[in-house]
Amino acid sequence: MSWKDCTEQPRVASILQNSMKNGRVAHAYLFAGNQGVGKKKVAVQFAKSLFCLEQDGDACGRCHHCLRIESGNHPDLHRVTPEGASIKIDQIRELQKQFSFKAVESSRNVYIIEHVERMTVQAANSLLKFLEEPTYDVTAILLTEHLHQILPTILSRCQVIHFDELSFERRVDMLKQEGFYEPLLRNICQITGNLDQAREWCQSDGFAQYRSLVLQLTEDILDKGSYALVTIQEKILKNEQGNQGLPYILDILVYWYRDLLLFQIDRKHELVNIDQLDAIQRQALRCSRTWILKGIEVVMETKNRLSRHANPQLSLERMVIELQEG
Ligand SMILES: [Zn+2]
Repeated sequence: MSWKDCTEQPRVASILQNSMKNGRVAHAYLFAGNQGVGKKKVAVQFAKSLFCLEQDGDACGRCHHCLRIESGNHPDLHRVTPEGASIKIDQIRELQKQFSFKAVESSRNVYIIEHVERMTVQAANSLLKFLEEPTYDVTAILLTEHLHQILPTILSRCQVIHFDELSFERRVDMLKQEGFYEPLLRNICQITGNLDQAREWCQSDGFAQYRSLVLQLTEDILDKGSYALVTIQEKILKNEQGNQGLPYILDILVYWYRDLLLFQIDRKHELVNIDQLDAIQRQALRCSRTWILKGIEVVMETKNRLSRHANPQLSLERMVIELQEG
């Protein structure tokens, strides 16, 4: 992998590349950003570029440094992750012990600490001493999703790199390139901004099932009969998976109604359910804009009620009745 493949964070990639080109690599970096924005991937790519023998400021992917990092066993790249809920002082001591020896395969040591905000106070103090006495050939890369929980003493010794949120289109593009089904992943990327979680949902059957359930439900609701209530009862409430997926089912429903609206105002390029044009057109012709807007409101209100632990059956039945009366 080279920097060209770090498409999630082009701005961060160029900051780090420039620091290498100009010979101004800091002793300690703190990568801050939400889960799934590519902190770990960039950290490993950065480490590779620091070690790589073939390319200046990038990773060739072929030399023994690149290959050993890829297979997770480079002796001079040290990785620390929380043991249980926290990072403990013994883990930091172990790191220091390893650094008391000369780097084995190269002239430098790099360490990556994930979830650095989960260090115990003792571990943080121990790391602090480490950061205070930087050796020329050691680079620390600390990762966090919770910048505000990092001790100021640690913050002040790191160069903080803020990772960007990934846009909807960018997340869709990335997952599309990984071969996932676009209509499904468009739904998923609307519901979560977290790329790792989105990928997980793309891989499981659950989400695809929720989506077909919602398509069924929207038809049932428009047909006005009691089918909608039966669908809710049999396929959602009496079904364990359906029950767990309730918040997502409601999210998918909101984006379905949004699609009807987008269709009506001729913004089809923004549709989420791009494989359901026929159904969207059919439903959009049957619904007024006022009804759709009210529908979105009703579903959102139902979601709020459920998050306050309202009874699922009563809440969903009320939702269907309000939608059918509207
Ligand atoms: Zn290399």
